[in-house]
Amino acid sequence: MRSTFLPFALPDLDETELQEVREVLASGWLTTGPKTRQLEEDFRRLVGAGHAVAVNSCTAAMHLALEAVGLRQGDIVLTTPYTFAATAEVVRYFDALPVLVDVEPETLNLDPERLRERVAALVLHGKEKRLKAVMPVHLAGHACQMEAIARVALEHNLAIIEDAAHAFPASFRGRMIGLPPPPFAASPGPPPSLVCFSFYATKTITTGEGGMILTEDEALAERCRLMSLHGISRDAWKRYTQEGSFYYEIIAPGYKYNLPDLAAAVGLAQLRKAHAMRRRREEIARRYTAAFAGEPALETPRVNPEVEHAWHLYLLRLRLEALRLDRTQFFDELKRRQIGASVHFIPLHLHPYYRGLFHYRAEDFPVAYREYLRVISLPLYSKMTDQDVEDVIAAVLEIVEGHRA
Ligand SMILES: *Cc1c(COP(=O)(O)O)cnc(C)c1O
Repeated sequence: MRSTFLPFALPDLDETELQEVREVLASGWLTTGPKTRQLEEDFRRLVGAGHAVAVNSCTAAMHLALEAVGLRQGDIVLTTPYTFAATAEVVRYFDALPVLVDVEPETLNLDPERLRERVAALVLHGKEKRLKAVMPVHLAGHACQMEAIARVALEHNLAIIEDAAHAFPASFRGRMIGLPPPPFAASPGPPPSLVCFSFYATKTITTGEGGMILTEDEALAERCRLMSLHGISRDAWKRYTQEGSFYYEIIAPGYKYNLPDLAAAVGLAQLRKAHAMRRRREEIARRYTAAFAGEPALETPRVNPEVEHAWHLYLLRLRLEALRLDRTQFFDELKRRQIGASVHFIPLHLHPYYRGLFHYRAEDFPVAYREYLRVISLPLYSKMTDQDVEDVIAAVLEIVEGHRA
């Protein structure tokens, strides 16, 4: 057994981040400035997107995206129960309604067929005018079926706001997450489309806290930028520079969501390593899958061959009928063996706030509920050594061996 605890997640930092941060500290310009603009430009180019707005979290990014598409009180936003708190809370900021749609069993991503059914039912109940947006989540970094989702969105003029917190760098049929789905790209005057990324400490690239909005629509990007810094007009961040002016105008009551240069500097170094870090995570994921594939009590993540997976998370599923312990006990057994694990996610409809608001029962989203009970996230980050990976594999197999039904 290991002598030290293996954390569930660790950032991959080295001299390059330190160098970038030193430059910022030496420059005396700590808040939003040239490093943040550079990060926007580099990120935008890497994905091939039209416009980028850096913000201080993915939560902020999704809030601004919903504001930019004009979400109003009582509007409906369709999303998945299988996500983090942020995806639905931003809908509630507007007193709008997150309507949950169950997930596909294989990927745990929003199920386009269930989406189509749910939208049809809402239309039948006279709610068509309230339908505003759909927010798919690329869970673990595996792309959603965006073509099918986009077709439903096009039929009903729904904005698409992608929660891509896990999905950088990732692609579907060679097209990176961050670009509008093909049916939107091909359609004249499609509904609004924005993609939101997270640079939170545990994510695939990090700035400590941070996020990014990508869109092809310049007006949407400008609205997000305006609202990310107090609703102040014209490059508000420049007002303390030599080229700036004291004069500004408040156009709308905006927010304080700007990404500081101190954080963006870390992101610049991370961005340069993004593909190398992804390759290392993929290698680790392959080793896990090779080690677990023959074990009947375990189910390894399935990857659609058209997908280039970001591998933010490795979601191992337990066949509980083959084991004498449940997922929570499995988690505890890993911890006892010095392995940090986690669970992604406790579906939204099981949480007191949403249960209270919508009177949900666990079985309302049967796939999300059933899969949640047997899923466990193993450590997956580029800083892991080969020995770390072997230790995780040994611990998992030992627990299975000791607890067969
Ligand atoms: C981490 C996460 C977010 C929120 O990201 P922040 O940058 O911390 O705001 C949103 N959605 C999902 C699915 C996440 O995992």
